[in-house]
Amino acid sequence: MRYYMPTKVIEDKDVIKKNGKIFKEFGKKALIVTGRNSAKINGALKDLREELEAQEIDYKVFDQVVENPPVSNVEEGAKVGRGCDFIIGIGGGSPIDAAKAIGVLLENGSEDAYSKLLETPMLSSVPIIAIPTTAGTGTETTPYAIVTDHKKKTKSNFSARIFPVYALIDVKYFMTMPVHVRRNTCVDALTHLVESYMNVNATVYTEYIALEGIRLWGTVKESLLNEVISEEAMSTLINASTLAGMAIAQTGTSLPHGMGYALTYNHQIAHGKANGLLMCAYLDMCKNRSKVQRILENLNFENLKELAGFLQKLLGRLELSDEAISLYAREMMRNAGKLKNHPEQVVLEDLIAIYKKSVMGELDD
Ligand code: NAP
Ligand code: ZN
Repeated sequence: MRYYMPTKVIEDKDVIKKNGKIFKEFGKKALIVTGRNSAKINGALKDLREELEAQEIDYKVFDQVVENPPVSNVEEGAKVGRGCDFIIGIGGGSPIDAAKAIGVLLENGSEDAYSKLLETPMLSSVPIIAIPTTAGTGTETTPYAIVTDHKKKTKSNFSARIFPVYALIDVKYFMTMPVHVRRNTCVDALTHLVESYMNVNATVYTEYIALEGIRLWGTVKESLLNEVISEEAMSTLINASTLAGMAIAQTGTSLPHGMGYALTYNHQIAHGKANGLLMCAYLDMCKNRSKVQRILENLNFENLKELAGFLQKLLGRLELSDEAISLYAREMMRNAGKLKNHPEQVVLEDLIAIYKKSVMGELDD
């Protein structure tokens, strides 16, 4: 049994200001990587600029990361960042994953970027510091980065394994999320916890982490139904998301994530929402009913139908044609990496059933 998570996680009020000295560990010139707007709206970019200036660290800003970034977007960032010693990614999963991928190109040269990011195993990166603002992908505590792969017409995990050296977490940067972003991203964290717990790679350590994350999520789940959220509830959801990252860093995700990529690539359904729409039909199919029962108990739901009803209130319903279901299920049958993480043999009909049940909203359990 192994556990490896080298990221130093600091969760605190005014975390950037209080920890400005750490930036000096990594060199004289930083690249800040953000999405187009949110890092400006939530104040993280301003705080970081001020702190880097106070520490006399030169920096450039690449603020053009799009949601579900493609390789071309990462290449643009690498051009801006040429010559930088380290990268600070602020945002949801898209900018922080882009920061990791840009880090690989800064370390290894940015020519032939597609091959370096998606085909060459285990390249290293310049140091990455993550400042998350969604709760969320957990990318601040995982070695993964997901890029949109237009050659394969899906989203793919990059080939490198890059844990951030630091994750700096401050609840104030999460309070500006619009309701739909908060719901989608917090549901993403729940799917990480669930897919890690049910995973073939689960260990005593990861099950413990995942169940505690699920329990925390369950204690504040009702707050996701409201327009406004308290800092206290948001902090609990952030803790659940960070724990989820620590769990999937060891186990990986499985079927809902693999099947959700088609919904994001082809229907522009947000990443967390895509996984959440498939999660209950997935759990309905899992043979280990005692594990499913533990998840429901920790979330404080009576049964799977109650969980499905709750998620439907948060996310709405999935609509897919039979042709799309058949195509996406066949594509998923080729995703060996995700299929092998599920503890049971999966056949095409199982995947079709998960998509269909998710559309119909009908569960057996
Ligand atoms: P995201 O794509 O980073 O952001 C979604 C939206 O939320 C964007 O419009 C963003 O604005 C906005 N936003 C983010 N933080 C905000 C804040 N505090 N206030 C207001 N708006 C905010 O969403 P995400 O779900 O966090 O990340 C999804 C990506 O992460 C996907 O590519 C997914 O595949 C990947 N992922 C990675 C891992 C991993 O372990 N590496 C795990 C799961 C998923 P801006 O664009 O202006 O920033
Ligand atoms: Zn996810």
